[in-house]
Amino acid sequence: MSGVWLCLRVVLMAAGLMGTAVSAAAQGSAPPVTALRAARLIVGDGTTVDDPVIVVRGDRVVAVGPRATTSIPPGARIIDLPGHTLLPGFIDAHVHLTSGDNDGGDMAVLRETAAHAGIYGVANARKTLDAGFTTVRDAGANYYAEVALRELIAKRVVPGPRIFASGPALGITGGHADVNGWSPTLMIPGTGIIVDGPDEVRKAVRTNVKYGADQVKIVATGGILSVGDAATASQFEDIELRTAVEEATRLGRKVMAHAHGADGLKAAIRAGVASIEHGSLIDDEGIALAKEKGTVIVPTLLILDEIVKRGAERGVPPYAIAKGRQVEPERRRRLRAAYAAGVKFALGTDATGDLHGRNGEEFQLMAEQLGAPPMEVIRMGTQYAAQLIGSEEIGVVATGHFADLVAVQGDPLRDLRVLAKPAFVMKGGAVVKSAALERSSTTR
Ligand SMILES: [Zn+2]
Repeated sequence: MSGVWLCLRVVLMAAGLMGTAVSAAAQGSAPPVTALRAARLIVGDGTTVDDPVIVVRGDRVVAVGPRATTSIPPGARIIDLPGHTLLPGFIDAHVHLTSGDNDGGDMAVLRETAAHAGIYGVANARKTLDAGFTTVRDAGANYYAEVALRELIAKRVVPGPRIFASGPALGITGGHADVNGWSPTLMIPGTGIIVDGPDEVRKAVRTNVKYGADQVKIVATGGILSVGDAATASQFEDIELRTAVEEATRLGRKVMAHAHGADGLKAAIRAGVASIEHGSLIDDEGIALAKEKGTVIVPTLLILDEIVKRGAERGVPPYAIAKGRQVEPERRRRLRAAYAAGVKFALGTDATGDLHGRNGEEFQLMAEQLGAPPMEVIRMGTQYAAQLIGSEEIGVVATGHFADLVAVQGDPLRDLRVLAKPAFVMKGGAVVKSAALERSSTTR
């Protein structure tokens, strides 16, 4: 194994690659050209290429194909990744990048400021990128902190994934997006925007779009981490759900709906949301509706597993652990049934607190719990997630797409767990992680 690392290091060092990949472009000369070679490529669309070459110019892929038929332009920097599998940069369709706690945000609302959210966001963005996730859909944040993070990552002020932001989630008074169980005299705001009735829903959608939301997050049922509501109970009227979707659609945005219970979940699907987050208790009618409408389920297995198995040590409140355990057995059966019936899925972890950076563990969980084959699971975290987000520049390694690439050692089609430990990450043509270089520099 050390030979592999050494080989990669030598090639990278000879090319002077680290830290200088973008300097030529910054100086106004022609964008640098880089060629990556590896044992195999998982394209993201269900196909593979053995002995692949990927040619990158600036931030884009300009050629991809087998080594025998893909020419490398003269003067290109070459990155050799022997024994590795290249994949598209991973996409997590449900994170909370600016969240630093494990309790769903109640304590953050009580004790923390916008500055906390921003600083957590910077730290979590780095961890997420190092885990190979070059794009995320953020599923709700206070203070529009993730919008600011998105802009400063795009300006290269701090490293991080491409972010599709929601702003604060929309929820009802006393619901999952509210902070409950305290004295009325305290006047505590929600963890999201608290709205009741279609007029307030419409205003909140417009407000979020005004401040930079790429999609709209609504809370259609109770939650696991919230106090005083049942995860199974619906939390919006149909007219409120429809208003959210109509207004978002008018403004060119999709809607993602948090939903555990079957009734709220079906109401959200009927209203036309793009995705159901969690989807725990989807019933047969919900499965049929999701198939008919093309609604995607983002099952967020990692966080629910962590709450049930390690909730106490992670600081999750006891009421939330009890709620998680109550839903758990049925959730596994229902999500498996939904996958078997042909409902579309995309990968999302609901990463908060100390889960940031562990996003890649979701691949193996999806294979185990949904009964999905490895190639399909990989597409859930690449191509299908890109389709859900609505971007045609990511999710598949193809000419014209962003050069967002991950390399893992070994073959993920044999063992998905290798996806949790990427050795190499490129985002927009710039090398942002190379385990090879880190390891070598400590031994020399
Ligand atoms: Zn979430």
